[in-house]
Formats: sequence, structure tokens, C-alpha cells
Amino acid sequence: MSQECIFCKIVKGEIPSAKVYEDDDFLVFKDINPAAPVHLLAIPKRHVARLSGAQTQDADLLGRFMLLIGTVAREQSLGSFRLIINDGEGAGQTVFHLHAHILGGSRFSEKLL
Ligand code: 5GP
Ligand code: ZN
Repeated sequence: MSQECIFCKIVKGEIPSAKVYEDDDFLVFKDINPAAPVHLLAIPKRHVARLSGAQTQDADLLGRFMLLIGTVAREQSLGSFRLIINDGEGAGQTVFHLHAHILGGSRFSEKLL
């Protein structure tokens, strides 16, 4: 846990969030400023600042993180969705607690990749 981290505060319940899924290791909640009709943030509860800061011992956590995202997307009936992880300021990361943006609920006309 990091004392000043917004997402750690959400995990601890010190900042309210609209939770979609929670278990011992992960939390999925609605983004406060949605960029798509459905915009969820999936986070590990443990404070990992960014993907590139993850270590070999995080492999199990990260694997289960990906599986969870697929499950939540299916449960939310997203059909298609886009998954974005910003790593570092230059990529637009503003909250330094690893999170994946799950974007869905519309067709994406813009094809980035
Ligand atoms: P980043 O820019 O780091 O990839 O994404 C951070 C995301 O967190 C942004 O999309 C922003 O809207 C969201 N966010 C920031 N503060 C809060 C908050 O207090 N609650 C929720 N639900 N989302 C937040
Ligand atoms: Zn944190």
C-alpha cells in the first residue's frame, strides 16, 4: 500500500468508487471520467506502480489479472472491448498504481493499431 496513492485509497474504501468486481487480489470499478459508454479500471489491490515495474514474482498476479479482465468483460456482456495500459508519463499515465482501462459499449471507429 502506498499512503498517497488514489487507487490504494479506493482499495481501502477511503475514496468511494462504483465497484463492478472485487476479490482478495483485484478490484474493478468505473472510471470517474469515462472515455467510452463502458469504461472500467481493473487494478491489483497490491500497489504496483506500473507494468514495467513488475517483477518475475508478479507473474502469477499478472496472469490472473488478465484472466479476470476477460471474465469481467464477459460478465458485463461487453462483446468487444479495448484494453489499454498506460505505462509512464509519456504514455499518459497519471495514476501510478497499475491499472488496465477496459473500454467497451460502442464500436470503435478509430483503429489505433
Ligand atoms: P491513467 O491516465 O493513469 O492511465 O488513468 C487514470 C484514470 O483514473 C483516468 O482515466 C481517471 O479518469 C481515473 N481516475 C482518477 N481518479 C479517479 C478516482 O478517484 N476515481 C475513479 N473511479 N477514477 C479515477
Ligand atoms: Zn496504490
